Amino acid sequence: MRKIIYIDSEELHSFLQSANDEVLGYGYEWENENVIHLHTKPLLHSFGIAHTVLFRKGDACANCETAQDYIVEVNKNNSDITVNVIGCDEYDINYIPAKNELYSRNKGILELNILEGKRVMIVGLGSFGSQIAIELAKAGVGNFALFDFDRVELHNLARHTSTTKDLGRLKTDVLYESILGKNPYAKVDLFPININEHLDLMEEEVGKADIVICGTDNNESRFNLSTVLVHQQKIGIFGRAVTRAEGGDVFRYRPGGPCYCCLIGNQWFGQSQEEITSREQLPAYMSQSDVDANIQVGLSADIEPICNMMIKITLMELSRGTNSGISCLEDELVYDYYMWANRRERRHHNWAPMPGAGSKPTIMRWYGAHIKRNENCSLCSNSAQMDLDDGGDIIAGYSEHLKVVDMSDVSLNDLEE
Ligand SMILES: [Zn+2]
Repeated sequence: MRKIIYIDSEELHSFLQSANDEVLGYGYEWENENVIHLHTKPLLHSFGIAHTVLFRKGDACANCETAQDYIVEVNKNNSDITVNVIGCDEYDINYIPAKNELYSRNKGILELNILEGKRVMIVGLGSFGSQIAIELAKAGVGNFALFDFDRVELHNLARHTSTTKDLGRLKTDVLYESILGKNPYAKVDLFPININEHLDLMEEEVGKADIVICGTDNNESRFNLSTVLVHQQKIGIFGRAVTRAEGGDVFRYRPGGPCYCCLIGNQWFGQSQEEITSREQLPAYMSQSDVDANIQVGLSADIEPICNMMIKITLMELSRGTNSGISCLEDELVYDYYMWANRRERRHHNWAPMPGAGSKPTIMRWYGAHIKRNENCSLCSNSAQMDLDDGGDIIAGYSEHLKVVDMSDVSLNDLEE
């Protein structure tokens, strides 16, 4: 049976350039599929059946005896490189492409050379952050700082990129492997810590980042990040699903523009609209059916549209001013705040059903709003005195926040009818 062999061309080139005549490698075989991957470096995930491999320069040790399962013999004549694999009779070799070919299909849409040099800080690697991290890696973003102290639990799997093989593992480590699986050249720094307890590090890392993504499920980190974004004058993207994923919203902070605090008011440290993801957060007097209803934050499919908006805005901001294909989004995504209506229930129950909506608000649509800067904002106004340590003291309702939004083309008062 003819086998399909994959060899990493970048690894092959660095072996040829090295002073070593041979190097022990790693082989992974999927026997029923007749596929073998041969590497000079171990893969992060070693699926398949493991084999021992020796890479050797053919002219240096053509007659050497070895006991490896496969020998990759590399011969170089001027610029011609030929590779023989000893250990199977009939095979075809495919080369995993070099860096500049990896994302060739994105050329023209994205400014790849620019994205490669950008650094994205992602706080929260749950159902939002995990998907966003992988999509940005696929797009060619080259540098990541990942923050999350959580581990993968069974109840995460339905809305997370991790799988059962990741159970119990740190989400930072799982995402590290997912990102490198898409872009082996990405540089990924991992912070498996609660960022709210490391505010100096937060300042430092926001300072290094080109854009900061907040995908957490708590207002404390939204508040702390907002404060640091204003200090550091960096772009930040905030996304969340509101209770039971009946909808969601995305807020973009740009230096000089309104901040998250301008959007939802000065007193926004309450819990009322936070996404509820764990039973510990629910009051003890709730019945089991209420608990089950409240704990349903929606399907992964409910969260996808919000992630997608965050990804598009991030790529647009990272590519801003480069005249790439994604730049046309700059004419469309002009708002600071976007609201996604997900289901026609609760908050949106009076909205028109889709077939008859016409210009009326309906579900499965985005609504954009320009936000006015609040002259008295406790965070970004000239007279703002608030500092990072003040956040925990501000306890107040959060549910009023939509009422301060001044939608440019759709009045929120209309939406709330
Ligand atoms: Zn503000």
